[in-house]
Amino acid sequence: MIIKILGTRGEIDEKAPWHTKYSGVLIDNSFLLDLGEKEYLKYNPSFIVFTHLHPDHAFFVRKENELDQKIEAYAPEESPEVDNIKVVNDPFKKNSYRFTPIPVIHSLKVRSLAYIVEKDDKRLLYTGDLAWMEKKYQKKFGRLDMVITEGSFIKKGGMIRKDKESGNIFGHTGLPDLIRIFSEYTQHIVLMHFGTWFMKDVKTARKKIQDLTPPDVKVEIARDGQEFII
Ligand SMILES: [Zn+2]
Ligand SMILES: [Zn+2]
Repeated sequence: MIIKILGTRGEIDEKAPWHTKYSGVLIDNSFLLDLGEKEYLKYNPSFIVFTHLHPDHAFFVRKENELDQKIEAYAPEESPEVDNIKVVNDPFKKNSYRFTPIPVIHSLKVRSLAYIVEKDDKRLLYTGDLAWMEKKYQKKFGRLDMVITEGSFIKKGGMIRKDKESGNIFGHTGLPDLIRIFSEYTQHIVLMHFGTWFMKDVKTARKKIQDLTPPDVKVEIARDGQEFII
């Protein structure tokens, strides 16, 4: 699988060189995971799989934006901006790929899914934004050739809030937590969706991430447009 990370910036105002665009991942020059920027449509994806419908992952839900062409989309829920979204609940196959949705906790308002993407014997996990993932779903991971996850927060625990009424949590967990969890299932973690802490001082940020990395795991900091192969 050729994995091109198109954008590595979280939903924040700050940017840094090589980290200016919102989430999008192009697989084998064929389909997209998330569509944080309209310009990603220039790759002419045959279909798009959405983790969740926040504007930095689905540009058209931002008020001033418009999706003015037809797309074939799979997403956790319907959107008034897209004509025919296939709402994902169960594993599905498309072309020569197999997708296994994994429910994740991230937002009170939008439903969120991570996906295991498989082709031949290669297995990729793309998490999207993540406050938490229940233990029972982690059992589905098996061995993963690569995990692509988010770097919104560097501090342990990230930024998790709790809804007073329902008690439900939402937000983003921290990189120490994510690297610890996913190191159990893979030796290759790629980070994107960076937060303000990263943009303010990329050099120091790189060092902090290095300090969190276990010895037998490779943790890479993706730049906009960077390609990876598994
Ligand atoms: Zn989000
Ligand atoms: Zn996001």
